[in-house]
Amino acid sequence: MVKAEDVLRTIREKNIEMIDVHIIDLPGTWQHVTIPVSEVDEDTFTNGIPFDGSSLRGFRGIEESDMLMIPDPDTAVVDPFATVPTLSLVADVTDPQHVPYQRDPRRIARNAEEYLKASGIADVSYWGPEIEFFIFDSVRYINQGYHAAYQVDSSEGFWNSFAEGSLGHTIRTKEGYFPVPPLDSTAALRTAMVKALQSVGIRVEMHHHEVATAGQGEIDLRFNTLTKQADTVMMYKYVLRNVAQQHGKTVTFMPKPIYGDNGNGMHVHQSLWKDSKPLFYSENGYAHMSPLALSYIAGILKHARAILAFSNPSTNSYRRLVPGFEAPVNIVFSHGNRSAAIRIPVNDRPQASRIEFRTPDSTSNPYLAFAAMLMAGLDGIRQGLDPVKEGFGPLDKNIYALSKAELANIQSVPGSLSESLDALEQDHAFLLEGGVFSEDLIQTWIDYKRVNEVNAVNLRPHPMEFELYFNS
Ligand code: GLN
Ligand code: MG
Ligand code: MG
Ligand code: MG
Repeated sequence: MVKAEDVLRTIREKNIEMIDVHIIDLPGTWQHVTIPVSEVDEDTFTNGIPFDGSSLRGFRGIEESDMLMIPDPDTAVVDPFATVPTLSLVADVTDPQHVPYQRDPRRIARNAEEYLKASGIADVSYWGPEIEFFIFDSVRYINQGYHAAYQVDSSEGFWNSFAEGSLGHTIRTKEGYFPVPPLDSTAALRTAMVKALQSVGIRVEMHHHEVATAGQGEIDLRFNTLTKQADTVMMYKYVLRNVAQQHGKTVTFMPKPIYGDNGNGMHVHQSLWKDSKPLFYSENGYAHMSPLALSYIAGILKHARAILAFSNPSTNSYRRLVPGFEAPVNIVFSHGNRSAAIRIPVNDRPQASRIEFRTPDSTSNPYLAFAAMLMAGLDGIRQGLDPVKEGFGPLDKNIYALSKAELANIQSVPGSLSESLDALEQDHAFLLEGGVFSEDLIQTWIDYKRVNEVNAVNLRPHPMEFELYFNS
């Protein structure tokens, strides 16, 4: 455990000039303040740093806006992008009396970890998100009168989806996994991203081009515990965006930027451990899964429609969850099947036994999404649910190819953010267990998303509507 005094020593030893302190707003983006080190001492870590909680998305009203950020010494790393030597820190949020703020996403993640320990079921959970993204040359937003749209400039891949003719050294739609350069024209940029990630202490397992047309990529993280991994996801996005910027490019994690091609997922691998032993493995179970793991799977699938309000929390998320693009559409589990919501990776090593929930995407707030998945899985374990009895499979077939009759008894993922929010409104008792999520946070989330995102998109004429209806 790193202490405040260790951070102060690092500041001296590395001639740090600024500290940059981050908090996470409710939707899940980093916000920051920068403080000259002449103003930094032990007090910074105990008394905290005051800020205006009313100006952050999803936080406080203007009449109760004073809040504190308390930097977590354990998160200190040198920022590779700052113009002067700068130490980056992540902070927890409290009220002026130092009471932890129950809408601080990091607080929810910690609550979930404490709840897991107290449950006696396991003492630690491990999380391995696979974050996918597109690298574009630039994105121009066009917002002229009724024409609210965006255009992706000169990404080879984007234009290739319109012109399937002589492509030379470029990748066609859905052919990106994974030829060598010069077809893989973003390999060097991904390597630069990996080096920057390593420089801030993030362990990367590999990087590769993804299935979509030129520029889709994936950089895989080594598994980690819940709050630490959510911290890593925040840093990952920051690093990728800044490395891309340095090279005159831009990165997007939005789930479906290109019509007719694969989207960006964030599959989440997860497992529970107790006394340093993996709890998900059994010699004889289906796909080497223990009864406990199967109950965990059943819990996630049972609450999936509600979880998606956190794991797929944008209107764009639901353009990705359609058949034919390796994204899940049905609420089932399966061994090695990439069309199921939960895949159990083929594997016979106890310490690598895990499940992969394939639905999530990176528009989620990772603290809330991981915590919601854990709570759903634990609910399944507590209730001793069996995913087979619950009708969740296993379904070891290509689900995209099933007939209507075969799909009759299989639940689908919600078709829109609006549906997921409705599901969360009706099904969230499992999140309130042990006070991990508060009713206040859940209602704030639902209201925020309905007003600022669902309505914001639904109330505007869509560019496609002009094509369909202008002359009708
Ligand atoms: N891009 C796909 C998704 O949207 C996943 C592709 C893959 O990793 N095999 O989930
Ligand atoms: Mg992968
Ligand atoms: Mg992938
Ligand atoms: Mg995967």
